[in-house]
Parts: sequence; structure tokens; C-alpha cells
Amino acid sequence: MNDTTVALRVVSGLGEGPRHLRTDSALPLDQRTYDRALACVHCGLCLPTCPTYVDNGLEADSPRGRINLIRGLAEGRIEPSESVRHHLDLCLDCRACETACPSGVVYHELIEEARQFYPPRLPEGPDGRLLHLFLHRLLPHPLAMRLALLPARLLQKMGLWRWLTHPALLGRLPVANRALGRLARALPEDDGPVWSRRRRPGLHRRTTPRWKPAVARIGFFTGCVDSVLFAHVQHQAVDLLRAAGCDVWVATGQGCCGAIAHHGGHADEARRLARANIEAFAHTGDHPPDYIVTTAAGCGAMLREYDHLFRDDADADRARDFSRRLRDITQVLAMLELPAPRRAPRRSFDQTVVYHDACHLQHAQRITDAPRKLLAQLPGVHVVPLGESELCCGAAGSYSLTQPDMAARLARRKLHHITATGARICITANPGCAMQIASTAAAEGVPLEVIHPVTLMHRAVFAGAGAGDPYASR
Ligand code: SF4
Ligand code: SF4
Repeated sequence: MNDTTVALRVVSGLGEGPRHLRTDSALPLDQRTYDRALACVHCGLCLPTCPTYVDNGLEADSPRGRINLIRGLAEGRIEPSESVRHHLDLCLDCRACETACPSGVVYHELIEEARQFYPPRLPEGPDGRLLHLFLHRLLPHPLAMRLALLPARLLQKMGLWRWLTHPALLGRLPVANRALGRLARALPEDDGPVWSRRRRPGLHRRTTPRWKPAVARIGFFTGCVDSVLFAHVQHQAVDLLRAAGCDVWVATGQGCCGAIAHHGGHADEARRLARANIEAFAHTGDHPPDYIVTTAAGCGAMLREYDHLFRDDADADRARDFSRRLRDITQVLAMLELPAPRRAPRRSFDQTVVYHDACHLQHAQRITDAPRKLLAQLPGVHVVPLGESELCCGAAGSYSLTQPDMAARLARRKLHHITATGARICITANPGCAMQIASTAAAEGVPLEVIHPVTLMHRAVFAGAGAGDPYASR
């Protein structure tokens, strides 16, 4: 019996000890967060939806097991041993357990608060240092990321990038770097100049006629990674919003949503980034936008959390107002009347596609109908169901880099279900999922185009014209 099994037996009632939050314990949770954990009635209905439990069948790697471990730490009944921390580190924070839970346990608040005390650990040595630099010094800074990507962009233009990131070469790298290398292979191509300052959709440009009121005022969230690697999706989204008669503002002063810091246990840094975004969107024109829109499900989930992040802060009301206005792009496009295709599509739309629900859309934001409604509007597009659609693909923010083995197994499981449908196009509304699925398909030699619903919509409405569409060439 290992120490985690002992810990689980203790906290699930087989041992003696106090059953209340202790402020001197190894994990002094907020009382409100602890009280929410007590809502768990141990029914186990969440277990089949938990990717790590489905993968290895261990109670300690299930939501129920982790809730018990966190409670045990908070009640001072167990210590944060190596194996206890491993089970917490292995959680993807995908929130599938919340969707399945009939008792309304808000699991993510538990794990995210626990991670402020026990941040997910990176590998020891140079790999860990490289990952730390990559996650916390490079990714949240679009300018630094663009500069760092210049050599890769150049090699892409020369046609050498795919050779240099070939699995045969990547196989020689240490584990964590191999995960980075796999993602590098899926780096979306950019059809613009290697270096361009025109990366953001036009600022503060009103495109609806003055005499015709805009159907909605949109504050467009560009974020960090998404604005560099998936700028084409953002341009396509703005094209579609403007075609539907919206005013679109891209607020200056905005930046990273804070998800990487938040999920890495750096709450103060997450709040700093969140405050900058709240401030930026408070000044988009004379009055706040009707909706703040993002094309990245992961960012959307984090932006909706701002009210929780500032719940005890002087900024609570502004944060609540910000989160209230937040919408995923698919929600807004599903609401609007988009113009019919301007001319006959250049490419056939007689195709079968499979839709992959990003966890941060289906579980964190409970958005499943809007993207399907959008796809149903496209003539000739046939959407086939995906097996185990509630399970994470293993991307989960930085998880594919910090837990490369579990992430790779989950990605192959997802790819297996995708290929079983026979579809050659996979639609997903999150950049992390797109890169995870595309990189796994490339590594396994599976021909698969992975695109955002906005990209398919843009192809239909604009008949292939307009902003770049890098995945179209794959
Ligand atoms: S968040 Fe996901 S990985 Fe973590 S316990 Fe819940 S279902 Fe499992
Ligand atoms: S479904 Fe909810 S109540 Fe049941 S074990 Fe999971 S978290 Fe606890």
C-alpha cells in the first residue's frame, strides 16, 4: 500500500482525525473553497469522464480521489508527500468532472487554489528551466514571441521547418523538449511577410454606415499566443463580425488573459494581467462594448473567471461586469445574421467534418450548441459525432509540456476516435487543442486538417478570399 492509498483511506473516513479546515495545515484553503469541497457525496459519477482515471484507473487520479486528497491536506490529516503531489500535478484542470457532477462541486476552484500552494512541478535541470522560460517569460509576451519565432518563420518560408522538426530528429531529444518539438512541428504557417507589424485586426475602425446603427459593439480580445500563432483566425473573426454589421474594437493595452500564470499557481501575476485587461476594455469608445469576444476557448474560460479572481477586491464590480460581457466568438456569430456566400465557393463544401469540443468551451463555459449551430448553417458540411467527446485531448494549457507522457496518450486516444469517423477535417475552437491534435496527427502520419469553426465559416462567406488560412495548405 503506497502513501497515497493510505492517505485516501484516512480522508475517506477509515482513519481518525479532525474533519474541519485547519489554518495551520499544509494547505490552508479559503473557507468558502473548503465548504464547496464538502458538497462531494462520493457518488463517483464523475469518474468515467476524468481523462486520467480513464487512462490508468487509479482512484487517486480521479476527481473524487483528488477532492479527498485536497481535503486531507486542508484538514491536516495528510502531508504533501511526493505521490500526493504527483496525483494533483496529473490533473488537467479540464473540468469534465464539473459537467458530470450532480452535486455541483466546483472542482476547479479547489485544484487551482491548491496549486497556489503546490504549483505543478517542472522537470529538474535544464529542461525545467527551459520550460519555465518558455511558459512564463515568452508565451505571455506577443512581441517577444514574434521575435523568437523569426528563425522558425524563415525556415518555414524556405520549406526546411518540417524537415528540421521531423519525428526522427525529435526522437533524439529529452522528453520535455520532445514535447516542445512536437508542438513546434505543428506551428501554423503564416502567409504574410516574415516580420509584419500588421498583426492585429484594424483598431477602432467603424465599418458600418454612419446612418445605420451597428448591430453590436464588440470589444475584440486578442490575447498573447492566439494573436501570434492564430492571427489568421482573429482576422477571419473580425471580417465576419464586420460583415454582420458589428463595430469591432481591438482594445489597446490588453494582453495575456493570465491563464498560464493562474494554472501555474501564480495568482498575483494572473491578477496583474487581468487588471490590465479590465482596464483596457473599459476604454473602448464612449461606453463599454456590448460583448467582449475571444476566438480562444482557453482564454474565454479564464476571462470568465475574473469575477472570482477579484471577489474580495475593490475591483470586484468591474471584474464582474467584464466577465458578464464575455462571449465566445461562436456564440456571437450564431446570434448574428451573416451574409450569404458572396459568390460560388471556390472549393467544394461537400465534406465530412468532425467537431472536437474543447474542454474550456464545453466544460468550463458550457458552450456546445453554438459551434454546432454555426456548422449546420454551412451547405454541404456534414458533421459526424465523435466518440468520447467529453474527454480532454491532453493539451490543457501547458499540460502537454509539463506532463508529456499522459498528454501524448490522451492525444493518441483522441486521434483514434477522430480517424474512426473517417473525417479529414477536424474543427475545434481552441488553439491549444488545434496544435495538440495537429501535432499528434503529423507524428502518426495521419492526414488531417485542423481548423477553427471561424475559418470554415470564413471560407463559406468570403469564398476563400481574405485573411490567410495556413492549415488549408496541409
Ligand atoms: S479536472 Fe479533469 S483531470 Fe482533473 S479531476 Fe476533473 S476530470 Fe479529472
Ligand atoms: S460526481 Fe460530484 S459528488 Fe460525485 S464523486 Fe464526483 S465530485 Fe463527488
